[in-house]
Amino acid sequence: MWWPVAAGVAVLTVPLAVAVAERLWRRPGPREPGFWALARAVGGRCHVRWGREQSPVVRLALPGEAEGRIRAVAGIAGRARIEARAYLPRTAGITLRVHRPAARPLRWRTPNLVAWDGWAPPGASVEVTDGRRLEVLLEDGRLEGALEAGLVGDGGREVLVAGQVLRLAWDGAAGETAGDAAERLGSAQVAALRELVAVLADAPAADDPGPCAACAQDLDDDPWRCPGCGRPLHRGCRELLDGCANRLCAETADAPPGPRPD
Ligand SMILES: [Zn+2]
Ligand SMILES: [Zn+2]
Repeated sequence: MWWPVAAGVAVLTVPLAVAVAERLWRRPGPREPGFWALARAVGGRCHVRWGREQSPVVRLALPGEAEGRIRAVAGIAGRARIEARAYLPRTAGITLRVHRPAARPLRWRTPNLVAWDGWAPPGASVEVTDGRRLEVLLEDGRLEGALEAGLVGDGGREVLVAGQVLRLAWDGAAGETAGDAAERLGSAQVAALRELVAVLADAPAADDPGPCAACAQDLDDDPWRCPGCGRPLHRGCRELLDGCANRLCAETADAPPGPRPD
């Protein structure tokens, strides 16, 4: 008779599994006031997207016709991660990932994104698709400070420059709700985005950037074609950005709400 044992195991483990799953990700609801407080603090607007699992998105204008968007995603160990993106009017000509504490290189993502030992902020790791382009960008002495601003605070901190997208991903504190983390971290993220946008806007244009909107490299044989806007991206680049790189496209990870679905 095995089934009484199986039933007993289920009675003991199912509630535990449910409790663990609930702890792992508290859904950020539209009633969390932190997103609205952040929107007021940074002069942006707060949008609530359709679907229960969606985080509100704070949108704001950045210098040089860049657009900023901030939302919460599920981070590690039940923490909220606050993601602030800037969609740039032109490509930075590079994919660059800086992470503190130092992290292992990402695999199976953007082609040629590899660890770089040329320069790194203290305690951080750097991966880049084009070291020579990064050296050109670093000739503007403000870039180091702007990257440092993108890594301030405790917890995991990542700065990603991916062609026309800039993304800061900062881990919230243990036990902090997504709205509280957004309110606490969002203003510093906006300040860092402003610095980075300004440096990249003044950088010399990349010569002859390739067609991938995320990394500005040539495409391979089997790119992903965005179902929203038709633009091609490397499949790994799509995965890295969790969607399209075109700020006008509904397939971006943090697209503002469209018309209500039928
Ligand atoms: Zn790419
Ligand atoms: Zn698209």
